[in-house]
Amino acid sequence: MNYRKKLVEAGKKLYNLGLVAGTSGNISIKENDDSYYITPSGLSYESMKEEDIVRIHKDGSAYKKEQKPSSEWMMHLEIYKKYPNYEAIVHTHSTVATSFAVSRVNIPLILIEMKPFLGGDIKVAPFKPAGSKELAKAIIPFLKDRNSCLLANHGVVSCGKDLESAFLSAEYVEDAAKIYFNSKLIGNPNIIE
Ligand code: 13P
Ligand code: ZN
Repeated sequence: MNYRKKLVEAGKKLYNLGLVAGTSGNISIKENDDSYYITPSGLSYESMKEEDIVRIHKDGSAYKKEQKPSSEWMMHLEIYKKYPNYEAIVHTHSTVATSFAVSRVNIPLILIEMKPFLGGDIKVAPFKPAGSKELAKAIIPFLKDRNSCLLANHGVVSCGKDLESAFLSAEYVEDAAKIYFNSKLIGNPNIIE
């Protein structure tokens, strides 16, 4: 399986769907307990190539020392450590979901697909600086029985057993956020029990 190709393609799709702006967001795949592939830090998705993808050890160090992994490598590795069932992670700054993250408002269970695809409602993890160990630690409880959560004033993290399901979850988070936002405008959004 070509992990590099998968990540490059997923990055372009993420960008083209508008789930990230500029070079924001990042994606990773777990190969085994000491080999993870992650997007590089601060590189445009449009020009990203397979050789730009960074292979890292479980301590975050790159196999090729000159390469710089995503600044969120600690968040990715902490999730893999605490939830061994996940083998891929997609971190976005998708607009509407991130607006809820800025307002620090949870997205309740409002759509039938949220239960099977996300695990339920989507909660906001507390604010911690981007790329910090504190952020990596703070989000862990918010992923219990859920594959996605919001990061206060920052974005979204979605996890899955493979890249396709992590990506799908990231899309469903943004979809739920858009629909909840519209429903709040119309008035009286109903929550599924
Ligand atoms: P990187 O380009 O280092 O992956 O950072 C993007 C981001 O979303 C930080 O939270
Ligand atoms: Zn981010």
